[in-house]
This record gives sequence, structure tokens and C-alpha cells, in this order.
Amino acid sequence: MKFIEDKLQHKQLVLLDGATGTELEKRGVPMNSKAWSAEAILSHPHIVQAVHEDYINAGVDIITVNSFSTARHMLLPAGLMGQFRHLNREAVKLAVQAREKAATGPVAIAGSIAPTTFCGDPTKCYPPLDEALSWYAEQAELLAASGVDLLLIEMIEDIEQGSLAVQAACTTGLPVWLGFSCRRNDTGDIMLWGREQTLTEGVEAIAGIGGSAAFIMHTEVADSAEAFSLLKTCWQGTLGVYAHSGRFVMPNWEFNGIISPEEYAVAAGRWIKMGAQIIGGCCGIGPAHIRELKKQYCPARSFS
Ligand SMILES: [Zn+2]
Repeated sequence: MKFIEDKLQHKQLVLLDGATGTELEKRGVPMNSKAWSAEAILSHPHIVQAVHEDYINAGVDIITVNSFSTARHMLLPAGLMGQFRHLNREAVKLAVQAREKAATGPVAIAGSIAPTTFCGDPTKCYPPLDEALSWYAEQAELLAASGVDLLLIEMIEDIEQGSLAVQAACTTGLPVWLGFSCRRNDTGDIMLWGREQTLTEGVEAIAGIGGSAAFIMHTEVADSAEAFSLLKTCWQGTLGVYAHSGRFVMPNWEFNGIISPEEYAVAAGRWIKMGAQIIGGCCGIGPAHIRELKKQYCPARSFS
């Protein structure tokens, strides 16, 4: 993580990868109707590793482990709970192998932890709150022990679950970054994704728990600048954005009308101007988009 901290300190842009789950789908890997991209770790490990390698070749500083949907509450409805430890260990192993094979400079590995669920009825997959904390802690510790350099809490939309995930991740001692997912409601307010609280209410409730960077992520490109300006008003640490393009019809992402790499880079340029120090992409955003960001905003790596 030292090179990431140095970059942030010297006001250099840090480049995250793009989507992992939707990129697997794009390459023909079937998505599980309940546990989404988790099964790909066992069924298509070479494609998971190839996605990581493609992002490393695009010049990213950080790749994200395919562990978004390997939380216990995601695996439970898919009948995959028994594979929890194995799936998380294997997911990190694929990212580590990709780094060993493709990296020519430093690349950090972020473990993804999702406090969200694809369950139609969340009460059927989230455990009671005290137990939920131990589930998040177990995943955070497992990812840390398997070799990730930082933990990225992705798609914070529920304040209660998001708080527990952040609290659990902070106990590992690794850097913890927080990804807030937003949507615009009918009256034009920027809300937490799928919830009735505003983004500002969510950030204010969670910011005191911990974490060193906060992101607007898994949010429409068109809404991300306004969401980012709200995030700036209530987050004191490092800031970043990684937006999505397209639409989820579970378990598949619809790629129709997806933003071009050039258009995405224009939007990212605006976020950078507003103060985003870390950028990347979420669902629908692939290696071509990340290559364009690298070309336009990140100076070539120096090996001196
Ligand atoms: Zn996404």
C-alpha cells in the first residue's frame, strides 16, 4: 500500500480497475441467479484471473478481488454457504496469481466486501445484527489472511449493514475504503441506492466509524458528479469515483447503450477536477474504459 499512499500524498491519481462481475458475464461466464459472480471462482477460474490480468495490463494501481458476492449472506440463498472459506481464499489467490503473472510494477489487491444482498426478501438472508457483525468480520479476516492489501466496502446502501461491514473491516488493521451507491429519486434527490435515506444521511451516519477513503460507486455516470459534490461536504478523507453504465436485470447486466471509453473519460475528468483522487469503473465499465483513463490522466510509470 506504500506506493498508493505516496501517490495520494503527492496528489497523483490512483487508478482502480473496472468491473469484475459484469466483465465475467461479458466473457460468457454464467451468473448465478442468487450468488451472482461467486460461482465463477470455481467454474471459470481462468477467466476470473484473465479479467484481473487485463486490468493490470491496462495500467491500474489496484485490482479488486471477485469477493463482492462471496459474503455469507450472498452465498446462503444460493446454497453455497459451505463453500464460504474456500471461495474467498480462491478469489484472493486468483488476484495474487494475476499480479504475479502480469504486473511489471506495484499493484495492490483490494478485497471487496458487500453489505448489500440480491435477496428479494433480505430478512431471509441477513442474520440478526450481532451475528451479522461476526459474518462481516469473518470475511474481512479471511480476505486479510489470504493476502489482500486493503478492504473495499462496496455498494453501501443500507446504513445498518454498511456500518457493521465498515466496523468489521476496520478490526483487521488494513486500510478500509467505503463505496457509497446512489440513485436519483423522482424528486431529483440523491438517495442511497434502493433506500429512502439520502446519500448525505448515509455518509454522516457511517463516516465516524472508520475508513480512509470514500467513493461514489455503482452509480449512474450522469448522477455521479452531483453525488460526489455531496460526498465532499461530509467526508474528510480521500475521495474517489467509480460509476457504472448499463442496467441490472438480475443476474445479468444489460450492456445496451453503454458509455464509450472516451465519454467515460470525459466524465472522469470532471470528477478529477472536483477533487477525486482515485478513479475506476463499476458495472459495465471494462478494460477499454480503464485504458482510456490511464492514457488521459495517469503519467507513465517510472521505474527509476
Ligand atoms: Zn457496480
